[in-house]
Amino acid sequence: MHQTVAIVGAGTMGAGIAQVAALAGHPVLLLDAEPGAAGRAAAGIRDRVKALVARGKTDADPDALDLTTAPSLESLAPARIVIEAIVEDLTAKRALFNDLERVVAPDCILASNTSSLSPTAIAAGAAHPERILGLHFFNPVPRMRLVEVISGTGTAADVADRAADLVTGWGKTVVRAAPTPGFIVNRVARPFYAEAWRLLTERAAPPETIDAVLTGAAGFPMGPFALMDLIGHDVNEAVTRSVWTAFAQDPRFEPSRAQRDLVEAGRLGRKTGHGVYRYGADAGPSAAATAPPCSAPPKVIDHSAADLRALMARTGVPVLEGCRDTGVMELPGGALLVRSTGVTATELAARHDAPVIVVDRTLDDTTATAIAIAASDGCPGDALREATGLLQAAGLAVHVIDDAPGLIVTRTVAMLVNLAADALHQGVADAADIDTAMRLGAGHPLGPLTWGDRWGADTVHAIVTNLHHGYGDPRYRPSPLLRRRALSGGRLA
Ligand code: NAD
Repeated sequence: MHQTVAIVGAGTMGAGIAQVAALAGHPVLLLDAEPGAAGRAAAGIRDRVKALVARGKTDADPDALDLTTAPSLESLAPARIVIEAIVEDLTAKRALFNDLERVVAPDCILASNTSSLSPTAIAAGAAHPERILGLHFFNPVPRMRLVEVISGTGTAADVADRAADLVTGWGKTVVRAAPTPGFIVNRVARPFYAEAWRLLTERAAPPETIDAVLTGAAGFPMGPFALMDLIGHDVNEAVTRSVWTAFAQDPRFEPSRAQRDLVEAGRLGRKTGHGVYRYGADAGPSAAATAPPCSAPPKVIDHSAADLRALMARTGVPVLEGCRDTGVMELPGGALLVRSTGVTATELAARHDAPVIVVDRTLDDTTATAIAIAASDGCPGDALREATGLLQAAGLAVHVIDDAPGLIVTRTVAMLVNLAADALHQGVADAADIDTAMRLGAGHPLGPLTWGDRWGADTVHAIVTNLHHGYGDPRYRPSPLLRRRALSGGRLA
């Protein structure tokens, strides 16, 4: 016999959770403060399940789902677990849990789907804080596999285990997170958006280019601007602001002024027809401009540039062994190709006394379809065309951007790794759960700690340190754990 699940708050999240619980065979009680809302949610669930049946995604009988609209809080008494998805307001959630404690059995679990409040704070004043915890589902609940299980200070271990087992039985993948701001996903994902805003604000590249490079070179399923347009800038900016506020305005999490402007202008994204991009009949994000076709140089000279060899192997251009230990590929015209370590091409040109073209990093050099490059100030056009032709010979769409330190992928991924290392260092979750959460909750192609190991903790540490020095901005201070792993050669994941 499946235990009874009560859902309070039948909006977007509550309806999604109710659908998943009902499909798993639980009797589900649905309650909402707004008259008619729970009934509409139940009808919506049956319609969605009918559509799933029609598409062959489930063999459940929509009419057999045990979904009941609860007329009052008292009618939730049979519940073995209550999951609340009401407004994101501490006072409202505390009041609800206080009222629920008077209604449900002493061992009924009380879970909150809060995305930003601490379960410890929600449980303050409760008679039985040991049965209160956070169960953070992701939107849309039926499709998103991840659930963050957040124990508050007073949550009993067996309560967290029971809740984790329950949602695992619903087909979800559980990660455990400490009750710290943003838990795992909403904290570690911030640089994906923040670095994009930073690049846009510095006019390093247009949004279409930033999106195209993060998808084509780094394997993210959507670029940050397209994704923020989908999420809604009001929602995305509020999450950033809430994490920033909770961390005493740590510059790591500082919201973007440019995004705030969009929110104030009502350009919230797809839902208003206009965000970073325009939507509707007349528009949609336009294709990113790529460099026009250029000829590949007849050869290059490899001066210990190990981190460019996989790309060179794709070009078919002969690589001659050079005699210098400088980590650069030399083009026939004398310009140097260098893999980004978060230093600008212009600074490297001054060091090498030659024009420099910096090459962005990728998720996988053997499969990337796009790449960003940036030339030092005053770099001759011929040198840039040689570099472009060379990378085009590798089958890559080449995006020439302004000389921003860490270009697009290098800085974004290095900062994701840096924040993941911080989260690990501060005991937010274990390494495997951080990586799982970022893959399943944020759709990243690789967990950030595994990604950090792939690039090498020393390389990521160098990138972040160079960004820190280059900008003089504490946002980029390296995580102490990243530094330790860089020095010891130990793994992050
Ligand atoms: P929503 O506005 O779609 O739904 C909230 C529902 O709760 C409404 O139907 C409202 O009438 C009802 N409600 C408000 N106060 C109530 C009360 N005291 N008692 C009973 N019902 C009440 O909101 P949502 O997007 O579903 O978010 C709900 C919760 O889930 C919030 O805590 C939010 O932070 C969290 N969350 C949202 C998302 C998301 O992407 N939308 C993701 C994860 C977590």
